[in-house]
Amino acid sequence: MGKKNKQFVEKVTAMEEDFAQWYTDVVKQAELVEYGQVRGTMIIKPYGYAIWENIKDELDKKFKETGHSNVAFPLFIPESLLQKEKDHVEGFAPEVAWVTHGGEEELTERIAVRPTSEVLFCDYYSNNIHSYRDLPKLYNQWGNVVRWEKTTRPFLRSSEFHWQEGHTAHATDQDAAEETDRMLGIYADLVEKYLAIPVLKGRKTDKEKFAGAKYTLTIESMMHDGKALQSGTSHHFGSGFAEAFDITYLDENGKSQYVHQTSWGLSTRIMGALIMVHGDNRGLVIPPRIAPTQAMIVPIAQHKEGVLDKAYELRDQLKNLVRVDIDASDKTPGWKFNETEMKGFPVRIEMGPKDIEKNQVVLVRRDTGEKEFIALAELQDRLPVLLEEIQQNLYEKAKAHREEKTSVAKNMDEFKAALEENPGFIKAMWCGDTACEEKIKEETTATSRCIPFEQEKVSDTCVCCGKEAKELVYWAKAY
Ligand SMILES: [Zn+2]
Repeated sequence: MGKKNKQFVEKVTAMEEDFAQWYTDVVKQAELVEYGQVRGTMIIKPYGYAIWENIKDELDKKFKETGHSNVAFPLFIPESLLQKEKDHVEGFAPEVAWVTHGGEEELTERIAVRPTSEVLFCDYYSNNIHSYRDLPKLYNQWGNVVRWEKTTRPFLRSSEFHWQEGHTAHATDQDAAEETDRMLGIYADLVEKYLAIPVLKGRKTDKEKFAGAKYTLTIESMMHDGKALQSGTSHHFGSGFAEAFDITYLDENGKSQYVHQTSWGLSTRIMGALIMVHGDNRGLVIPPRIAPTQAMIVPIAQHKEGVLDKAYELRDQLKNLVRVDIDASDKTPGWKFNETEMKGFPVRIEMGPKDIEKNQVVLVRRDTGEKEFIALAELQDRLPVLLEEIQQNLYEKAKAHREEKTSVAKNMDEFKAALEENPGFIKAMWCGDTACEEKIKEETTATSRCIPFEQEKVSDTCVCCGKEAKELVYWAKAY
């Protein structure tokens, strides 16, 4: 075995042994990212970016279908502007990166590198919204933001990350509420239908909501190790920011009114979910609808006459049907098999001299490892169907896993036992008091993930204090 081969089959740590190390190994060996020079930053490599781009394209299409326009706002925020909304600045202050110098010269006012862009949009809206005719404003921007994190991990928590942030302004509270719901629905759809990850939809508690928001809606997903991941949030601001930034419009009766705003975001963190929900000890498993390469052709004994020609011919036949590629490099078939598995391509198409003789190929599914011999004449019908089967199977598997990892607790003893014995979501009733939420976090490190839209009553009393319960909450340890 050559040096290159040895390097590649270098073992990925088993996830049962050390999940965090498994994650780091996969991210590196599947060539998704590399660490940047400044601690906590990352270089997203071509394969990682191609996956993100597919997510991005799908979302962008949905944003535009629902009437949103893309814009690009500055990277910098003057300190005085960031200070304008009290809760907002308090929420973000500990993570802000500050620019203090321009060249050699010290600036008279510090400039923040945007941790999020609410204040920039609010400032803009206060100058550009005058009449009810100017509403709604439905803006989105694709960009990067900086939050100075103490502990960082690729995709999950990085000092700089890529995302989209939507910022909208509406005439009424009801309009803003509908927008908040609509965008959460778009996120849930993308994550469930494209990423094959089932989500819980719900509202954040006041303690966990966005700094400055009236309320925050969230989608939460369950990772393989039993930890939850917040996968997208949509915030209703009410008129709080509008009052701080004086964003008013004249209604149809000529009366001055505050606008009602929303913001919503989905970031490269979702890549972490993709890895941790579907991945296994052989590497990534990418759902077909989002996979940059849905099928990889691996020629066997490609030095033999006619094999490569036939493989290229096959690629050309399939390329308008699925996203297909061919590995015609001089690496061994074994190396190529490993790589298709590491990168999580949904299907591998093997084709050697014997297959060519029989007018067939071998299809190998990444999700189950199952092999299927299929006549060339039937391949164009079979392949898209197989990809859909894989997509469905990944979703069902993830859903079954989430169910397995969901417990019910009626008191703190049951809560702690569930966390210990079967880490995952815990469904428990809550009285609505932040003190109970804080106590649970302190005693167990689990946090409230959401108050699900689909409510159930698993008991009458709060899991923590025993007083009358108001609502069901999903709790979990989270990334
Ligand atoms: Zn309580």
